[in-house]
Amino acid sequence: MLTGITGQDGSYLAEQLLSRDYEVHGLVRRTSTTQRVRLDKLFHDSDVYNKRLFLHYADLDDTTTIRRILLKTEPDELYHLAGQSHVGASFEIPETTCQFTGMGTLKLLEIVRDLAKQPRFLHISSSEIFGRPQTAPQNEETAMRPVTPYGVAKTFATNMVRLYRDSFGLFACNAICYNHESERRGESFVTRKITKAAAAISLGRQKKLKLGSLDGKRDWGYAPDYTDAMWRMLQQPGPDDYILATGFAHSIRDFLDAAFKAVNLDWQDYVEQDPKYMRPSEVTQLVGDASKAKEKLGWTATTNLHELAKRMVRSDREQQQNASYLSP
Ligand code: GDP
Repeated sequence: MLTGITGQDGSYLAEQLLSRDYEVHGLVRRTSTTQRVRLDKLFHDSDVYNKRLFLHYADLDDTTTIRRILLKTEPDELYHLAGQSHVGASFEIPETTCQFTGMGTLKLLEIVRDLAKQPRFLHISSSEIFGRPQTAPQNEETAMRPVTPYGVAKTFATNMVRLYRDSFGLFACNAICYNHESERRGESFVTRKITKAAAAISLGRQKKLKLGSLDGKRDWGYAPDYTDAMWRMLQQPGPDDYILATGFAHSIRDFLDAAFKAVNLDWQDYVEQDPKYMRPSEVTQLVGDASKAKEKLGWTATTNLHELAKRMVRSDREQQQNASYLSP
């Protein structure tokens, strides 16, 4: 069972689980559109949709419905990936962020606690819990000092997962994920915004790219690696928390460089700064130490920044070339 199955990570994880012969269930929000682009390939596979992949309607705060679905489906593993995941947006909608990212996790834990057959539980936590850490790289023991509403909500959820593991004996794990990107990354995250723009500019369809602060450094990995690690976490003999990261910090300028180089352009000719995208508070440098994941899960991140940027730009160029509504 996955929450957030329509998101970047949910869609990769669903594919990986299906390829490992799982029956996959996903909780989805009821909306007026049924467009779920990231799951398109699975929907159109008649051997998969409604045979080995099932979707159920439930909002994260609809505990009655979620309980009913869990009682009916009796999952062995529950991956909790849903929640408001945009740090910048969390300053605009802090209550919603805490309601879904923070309380949504607690509500799920409460439901699981009461189940006769308890699934193994994985919560996707975030490097944002470390805020402005005093040590680098950060590991599972680093103090949490969140500086954004999203970071505060994730800190609450991460600690609740630990508490339910320690106090109620749940098999509950935190995957403390550093930024992980892909062709399926949401379009308002900085990497995807950059690769979409590099593609569009190279095709003559966009002139400028407006960004906020370029000072931040991030540890950017490739999303399918991270979902593979999540699965590995739930196959261990016992529950635990793991940092998932590449161990390399790159600046936004580095990513711009890599993305625009992929289409033989110089980003400095196109990027403008716009105060609209500046945040009231910012984590400046996050880099993770994933040695525990390497040792215990046999996991390492496989894709470096240049490959990642190139892959994303290539995919965006293909998408834009294929999209007829964008044709000049
Ligand atoms: P985050 O690490 O989860 O906040 O991931 P984002 O991709 O949203 O942001 C990464 C960094 O890029 C942060 O330091 C942002 O302030 C910075 N940034 C600069 N311009 C932009 C922009 O236009 N959009 C976003 N999302 N981030 C930007």
